Amino acid sequence: EWDQAGREQAAIRAAEQHLMQPWPAAEDIGAEARMYLEQAEGIMVEDGAGNRLIDGPAGMWCVNLGHRHEGIARVLYNQAMELSYCSPWYTMSKQAVELSQRLAAHAPGDLNHVFFTTGGSSAVETALRFMQFYNNVLGRPEKKRIVTRGGAYHGSTYLSASMNARPRDGDWMDQARDLVLHLSEPKPAPGLDAAGQRALTARLAQEFRDLIAREGAASIGAFVAEPVQASGGVVIAPEGYLREMRQICAEHDILYISDEVVTAFGRLGHVFASEAVFGIQPDMITFAKGVTAGYFPLGGVMISERLLERIRQSNHPEACFAHGLTYTSHPIGCAVALKVLDLLEAGDLERVRRLEPLFRARLESLRDLPIVKEVRSIGLMACVELATGKSDAASLAIEQKMGKRVDLHCQKLGLLVRPLINMCVISPPFIIDEAVIERMVAILRE
Ligand code: PLP
Repeated sequence: EWDQAGREQAAIRAAEQHLMQPWPAAEDIGAEARMYLEQAEGIMVEDGAGNRLIDGPAGMWCVNLGHRHEGIARVLYNQAMELSYCSPWYTMSKQAVELSQRLAAHAPGDLNHVFFTTGGSSAVETALRFMQFYNNVLGRPEKKRIVTRGGAYHGSTYLSASMNARPRDGDWMDQARDLVLHLSEPKPAPGLDAAGQRALTARLAQEFRDLIAREGAASIGAFVAEPVQASGGVVIAPEGYLREMRQICAEHDILYISDEVVTAFGRLGHVFASEAVFGIQPDMITFAKGVTAGYFPLGGVMISERLLERIRQSNHPEACFAHGLTYTSHPIGCAVALKVLDLLEAGDLERVRRLEPLFRARLESLRDLPIVKEVRSIGLMACVELATGKSDAASLAIEQKMGKRVDLHCQKLGLLVRPLINMCVISPPFIIDEAVIERMVAILRE
């Protein structure tokens, strides 16, 4: 019988021998143990030594309704006992049908169909493969290239990862480079005023128009954009930018795919943020993570009726969207998502909107610290960007590890943050309250 500390050591040794974790540096392969968690409740996680920490990133932007949620756990159990699986090829469940109906009611405009996947990468991959199918059916097989932006993260399958444009993501991994075109990261300088934001939007929109003029609209099938670049460090585009990009896509028959894997299901106070927060109606919306509050792997793509209608009216009735996953429309995932929607509609969306100004103000109060370069915040997601204030090589090297160093220190004080190079991202469960926000900010300040 191991004591608590013994269990943790045993787990770490076994992990080093057998468990591969995401994004291992070559020097870490074989030493990949990460913080060992044994349990969690509400907004707190507990490590193997019994230390309790605030779950600042809500797992990976997903445990939005907190850990050990009895209502959700009951749905998981009941659905497993009622109908644990059904093949999406020739059967369907009440839960999948009902969820599709409710999502269609929440989605903007005519995005009234949903294709369910197993998570965010498979949702983005599905949207891109649908774009390819759509253009094949419409008789324009050259219209397939994909426009992405600096700082983007869209997943870890081949096509979705090919669009990743964060520093170093593509250095050692092959990407479908001939399919992808890059635009600048839409990142305003700290403190940019309204006129500066408008000028930046105009410049970025012109960059897109120039790219289309250079490459030809006939070769470009999709523009993919997170409404707020999450893993890029909560990058909030300048005012009007998303509407401009939407307009340019419409002018050139380029499909606008809004990647709401992080922003949907309440993170910005709405089920979908594209229209409610940013005033745009995309052609497709990808989602995952919060749809099941992290309790089951599920994602999906909302697809516009207009696109489906164009396919139906094509001259190719035999054409087939040859794409599907064993776990497409998984009844347990769909049942959990229905419960999550109930909870969001019953008060959690409203709660995010109510907490947003306090959350922003308290995090922005950290701006007076000399190592804080910028604080960006929207809904319940924020990023504290750090800098040494110096530009010599040694200081820049230190900056590369600042997020990790702050994270390690915060862990000792009882807070998990998500370190990203020189940034710390916070995206807490929506059940956070004023007192925990204060505690989190006090720890960050320390
Ligand atoms: N798209 C965005 C915007 C994401 O942030 C992520 C993951 O963080 C993904 C897609 C990929 O989702 P998943 O990890 O569920 O495959």
